[in-house]
Amino acid sequence: MYQTVIYETPAPHVARLVLNRPDTRNAQDTRMLYELNQAFDRAAQDNDIKVIILAAAGPHFSSGHDLREQGALETMAEFQTVGTWCGFGCAGAEAQMAREKEIYIGFSERWRNIPKPTIAQVQGKCIAGGLMLIWPCDIIIAAEDASFWDNTVAMGVGGVEMFNHPWELGSRKAKEMLFTADWLSAKDAEKLGMVNHVVPPESLADFTLAMASRIAQKPLFALKLAKEAVNAAQDAQGRTSAMQTAFALHQLAHSHNMQVHGMMIDPSGLSPAIKR
Ligand code: ZN
Repeated sequence: MYQTVIYETPAPHVARLVLNRPDTRNAQDTRMLYELNQAFDRAAQDNDIKVIILAAAGPHFSSGHDLREQGALETMAEFQTVGTWCGFGCAGAEAQMAREKEIYIGFSERWRNIPKPTIAQVQGKCIAGGLMLIWPCDIIIAAEDASFWDNTVAMGVGGVEMFNHPWELGSRKAKEMLFTADWLSAKDAEKLGMVNHVVPPESLADFTLAMASRIAQKPLFALKLAKEAVNAAQDAQGRTSAMQTAFALHQLAHSHNMQVHGMMIDPSGLSPAIKR
């Protein structure tokens, strides 16, 4: 049914969505994000599914956005638009903002608000755009070899489009992660509260499925209400409006880079990013 995502039901009332572009380290092209969105919708709309696991094939969870995708804006026409912003063929900053509103912050926020518990199961590297797949999930289980990286400041942008860093790490560590573009280990991410549990790589899938199955024994409506209540607590602290400000600044950075460098990012940040 999908080319880039596998949809499984490994246990009663549990769906598992598996990113399946391991040859690219699960780089996110337009197709993968739309297919993942469809798979999330399918699990959300199936009354028999109570818990959704997001996993990834291969040694690494995700290398982020697929920077090698050609004609990304033109590709938008191949998929059914989900949000209300359109204009992917417009001139200037408008098309890029529309694309990022649809498939980056739009999808990430949409998945964050799915009214069923979601669990990210993370191994290996999870880079920049990869964070926008795991942060929307309610629970994050990481293998001991997992590590997390937002290198966007090095590329002339103030952070990934779903700017959840302060809510994941606290303000000081969020700034450190952004300013230094250092890797965050699974252990440190657990200490900061971004990750729920760190487990040996060989038990990652079993541990995650066991937790999903335990959660799936609870009444679904109560799970929905609990999730909605915690999300509301975060949003009452200003998360959503802070994120909209960060998204506007992110678009300013793309426009600035277009004027100064003729591309959406500052290319001086590319080489250290690739070397790592
Ligand atoms: Zn962007």
